[in-house]
Amino acid sequence: MMTFGGLTCREVVELVTEYLEGTLAPPERARFEAHLAVCPDCPVYLEQMRQTIRALGMLPEESVAPEARQELLRVFRDWKRG
Ligand SMILES: [Zn+2]
Repeated sequence: MMTFGGLTCREVVELVTEYLEGTLAPPERARFEAHLAVCPDCPVYLEQMRQTIRALGMLPEESVAPEARQELLRVFRDWKRG
């Protein structure tokens, strides 16, 4: 488990929908972006997540339903396993 910016990749995954929704608190957002700046994996994941959300027709302003969130986390786990 890699830690960058005080966050592990798992924590970034858990925060990514809130980040895309713009609902992260500023301190969390700063740590999230610090992680993204140095982690080799999470920016790729974030871009995939952005495209997935766009493909599903979910606007960032709208909250992501719990079911969709679970689906996205499952997509990430599969992706992480490679
Ligand atoms: Zn990461």
